[in-house]
Amino acid sequence: MLKFTHSLFIVLLAFPLSAQTNFLVTNTLAEQVLKGNYTPADYAAGAVIDDPALIATEINARISPDSLKSYIAALSSFGNRNTGSDTVSSSWGIGAARRWVLSQFQAFSAENEDRLLTGYFQFDRPICSVGRHRNIMAVLPGTDPDPNGVIIVEGHIDSRCEALCDTACLAEGVEDNASGTVLVMELARILSKYSFKNTIVFMAVIGEEQGLYGAEAFAIYCQNNNIPLRAVLNNDVIGGVFCGETSSPPSCSGYNSIDSTSVRLFFIRRFQFTTQTTGALYQTAIPGKSPGHGGCPDERPHHVARRPHRPRRRSYSVQEPRLSCHAFHSSQ
Ligand SMILES: [Zn+2]
Repeated sequence: MLKFTHSLFIVLLAFPLSAQTNFLVTNTLAEQVLKGNYTPADYAAGAVIDDPALIATEINARISPDSLKSYIAALSSFGNRNTGSDTVSSSWGIGAARRWVLSQFQAFSAENEDRLLTGYFQFDRPICSVGRHRNIMAVLPGTDPDPNGVIIVEGHIDSRCEALCDTACLAEGVEDNASGTVLVMELARILSKYSFKNTIVFMAVIGEEQGLYGAEAFAIYCQNNNIPLRAVLNNDVIGGVFCGETSSPPSCSGYNSIDSTSVRLFFIRRFQFTTQTTGALYQTAIPGKSPGHGGCPDERPHHVARRPHRPRRRSYSVQEPRLSCHAFHSSQ
């Protein structure tokens, strides 16, 4: 069973007044679903599958390592996914990458009775000399329009080199964070077959490296529109634990241990910290591809609200779980 950690939730709890403005959900039907203004029957599956045990069994059987690997290869092929990178080219930059992710969401929806409502969440804020930015989203309407809130499954799509706004360098960002983004995509593909009480939002967010701006923007949008959040499952730097390099005990088994087959959970606030092993999920290593932001060493647990990535390795002992980090190894 897939496990995750939270980061947007932290952002929601802690964000200050922000410069993000002009929020826009490009799919108006998706926006109405987020606000609870919809008829569940309009999005019901032809054959409803809502048994948790059956869903769990099928999810484990249907997750495809080959799909995950091919998605990572595709995302890395765009070269540089810096938030300020090219939006016009069809082969380089964040624009091409996000259009590809959107096309995949649309294809997944077509495979599942058009039950995913796909589009962009757009906002304005100067980041790396670019004023307008877009998260990519796919919304799976819940069977109850008045539940206890929507569930967000997210991962940041942007990458970087050591210089925060370098849009010319090779920043394939395979591990950080194509790995988390493709998990969000694969979950959208898998989960859109089933019926869940809560609406689920699958989202690839932008501006993470410069300060969690895409996640923050959506958190503010939800608060401004009284959209309750049930949970945020955030996936960042998934698919490989190098204890002492990308993690620290007790979230890994011990210094110098390497594990790409476990799922680590980081619960925050009132939740209890735990870890679980699920057996082999997938391997994200792709020969010849850089693992981190693209040529830069990957780093430490991160995604604490208002604390952007630091461009060098860090490791540290933790007496208690960090407030967000990688969860797969997968999550954020
Ligand atoms: Zn990251």
